[in-house]
Amino acid sequence: MRIAPGGGGPYPPPDVPAPARPSGCASAASVPEREAKAEIQRLLSESGWNGPAREVEVEYYPYATLRHTVRVRNGRVIVRLHDSLRKAPAPVVFAMLAILAARLCRRRDPARAMRIYKKYLTSLPDDVLDSYGKTDRRREVEDQPVGRWQDLRKVKERVDAAFFGGAMSAVRISFSPASARRRLGSYDRARNRVLISRAFDRPDAPDYVLDYMVYHELLHAIYPVRREADGRRSFHSREFREAERRFPRYREAVAWIRRMR
Ligand SMILES: [Zn+2]
Repeated sequence: MRIAPGGGGPYPPPDVPAPARPSGCASAASVPEREAKAEIQRLLSESGWNGPAREVEVEYYPYATLRHTVRVRNGRVIVRLHDSLRKAPAPVVFAMLAILAARLCRRRDPARAMRIYKKYLTSLPDDVLDSYGKTDRRREVEDQPVGRWQDLRKVKERVDAAFFGGAMSAVRISFSPASARRRLGSYDRARNRVLISRAFDRPDAPDYVLDYMVYHELLHAIYPVRREADGRRSFHSREFREAERRFPRYREAVAWIRRMR
């Protein structure tokens, strides 16, 4: 909440749009670096840290693997959060800061913060975890390609024949255990498996929509996750998007899915 400088109490946010970010600039973090820095300082003083904490640096960093680090160098506490946390919900970022502060103070990992962070990790799509070099330790779920209304094996066969010349026969396919609306599909490279949300197992799901979903996920098997010049990972590269748009009823399928959500 903003407090007016003269002690006049809260005042409404200014009625002007936020200034546009310069192009090419990283997207705004849910917890900006200065806020993360203040939190680390608070955590350290709270825990009676008597190391050199006059200078604290926090930055989001494009580590190749999913990791977050804290170290002390030349009297400075340097915290680096993996770039992916920019887009994580604020409580997740604060949880990671608590974990790093505890590590710096050589304390046990704070249980609540660990729970929050682990829950966040399990919410990430398989292909995202995979690209971060993180082994997915979630329980192995058996393939369930046949739903109540739809048979994904048939969908995959159709799509494979039409677009991939049968090259995708080894890719496994399954409905996800839950009817996720946010995460509609994913490709798990480690298991070479496409997962389609059970939300698509309904009698009125048109073939072209199911085909599009499976086509999109199969494209992930072909197009690797690309590392951009700024270190970010791109799941949907320009080449990927071009290939995706070659799907004959692309716009229609996307519109149907948008309505379903
Ligand atoms: Zn995708």
